[in-house]
Amino acid sequence: MRFVSTRGQAPELNFEQAVLAGLAQDGGLYVPKQLPSFSAQEIQSWVGLDYSELAFKVIAPFVDGEIPDSDLRTIIDKSYADFGHAAIAPLQQLGHNEWVLELFQGPTLAFKDFALQFLGHLFDYFLKKRNQRVVVMGATSGDTGSAAIEGCKRCDNIDIFILHPHQRVSEVQRRQMTTVIADNVFNIALEGNFDDCQNLVKQSFRDQSFLPDGRSLVAVNSINWARIMAQIVYYFYAALSLGAPSRAVSFSVPTGNFGDVFAGYLAKNMGLPIEQLIVATNQNDILHRCLSNNDHSKRDLHQSLSPSMDIMVSSNFERLLFDMHGRDGAAIRALMHDFQSGGFELNEDVLANIGNLFSSYSLDDQGTLATMVRVYQEAGYLLDPHTAIGVEAARKVRRNQTTPMVCLATAHPAKFPDSIAKAQAQGYALSEPQLPDRMRDLFTRDEAFSVIENELASVQSFVAQNIR
Ligand SMILES: *Cc1c(COP(=O)(O)O)cnc(C)c1O
Repeated sequence: MRFVSTRGQAPELNFEQAVLAGLAQDGGLYVPKQLPSFSAQEIQSWVGLDYSELAFKVIAPFVDGEIPDSDLRTIIDKSYADFGHAAIAPLQQLGHNEWVLELFQGPTLAFKDFALQFLGHLFDYFLKKRNQRVVVMGATSGDTGSAAIEGCKRCDNIDIFILHPHQRVSEVQRRQMTTVIADNVFNIALEGNFDDCQNLVKQSFRDQSFLPDGRSLVAVNSINWARIMAQIVYYFYAALSLGAPSRAVSFSVPTGNFGDVFAGYLAKNMGLPIEQLIVATNQNDILHRCLSNNDHSKRDLHQSLSPSMDIMVSSNFERLLFDMHGRDGAAIRALMHDFQSGGFELNEDVLANIGNLFSSYSLDDQGTLATMVRVYQEAGYLLDPHTAIGVEAARKVRRNQTTPMVCLATAHPAKFPDSIAKAQAQGYALSEPQLPDRMRDLFTRDEAFSVIENELASVQSFVAQNIR
């Protein structure tokens, strides 16, 4: 399969190249030149497949023979072997025709494991084949870093360096990163904030001359095509369980960078009958403002109780805009040019077209807590704050009560105990979330991390010295 850039000026790549490339040379994002699609009959024949078998069906057309089928099956099987639930992505019923899809059964208790376990194994496969070693460098405000470390820790050909803002991530999140003790894993606690971490990583990607000869950086952020692709699978898995393809299903998705919900859009275009996709945001609501008010302008970042959705710019939205503009790279370049100077407006027909499938809603911290409390009272089910936003958004803007609504549960509640403590402090009775058994000893495990000053040269010399 060939992959093209959303900005139309970078070379076409094959699957392997697109996975290893990250951002395109023209600043765009890679997307398949032609999306695979499946007939209703074919989708019907997948009813009853387990998660890994289904993942193979959905992913194989993108790989398009570049990895032999038996190897691809092995990669997929290994990716979901460390999940803590036999269903991998179990559904729980919350209310009438209302479900949550638990995407937090992986090693770090957030949905990013679905993509990053897979990406780690995929990197390992391609790098061994090429006999090449690379350096993964990434910045995290929490969830991505731990999922990337878990995904890469067993990859012989990767050294991974993850920067987090020193003393500004939650203890659960820090420990999920720093208790992974492996020769190729390096946690950098930067004396700065998340933006500082991200800037140092971006600068390092731009000029990689600090690396030893023959080494290069590889990105694991959510613009990597393989991450999006792996996320398409659970839309199929959930919908098939609820009666697709003979019955349509809707999804509500807690959204930051638009990666997860974009995977739902792809699932629909690949033939899955999805009636409505809800973009649920916290007060960092650039996507909600765009969809509801045609206001796609940058605003200051607010820290919220759902930190993994605290974004100013939603990078994967560009992939949707590319489709909505007839896959015209020049149109995307023009929009992104306007965005550089603050914001852009979409054509009314583009906006209307997006609105046919997508709805949006934004919820603040107090609304998030109220939803956690309400759902706990109604169903005895504890939501994490990100998931709560998706659930409330679905209740507010769903179009059709008779179509099953699946709310993606993106994190385990024990990962974000602060919100629960906050609700308890306001007098609400919520139970303490418990870490799963396999993680009960998280707070007594040994940690390893290096505190480094907020200087490019210091970070780069640390990386250069520690590469194996
Ligand atoms: C990353 C993340 C999100 C947002 O996902 P996007 O793909 O960036 O939209 C939502 N919830 C949790 C818990 C996350 O870690």
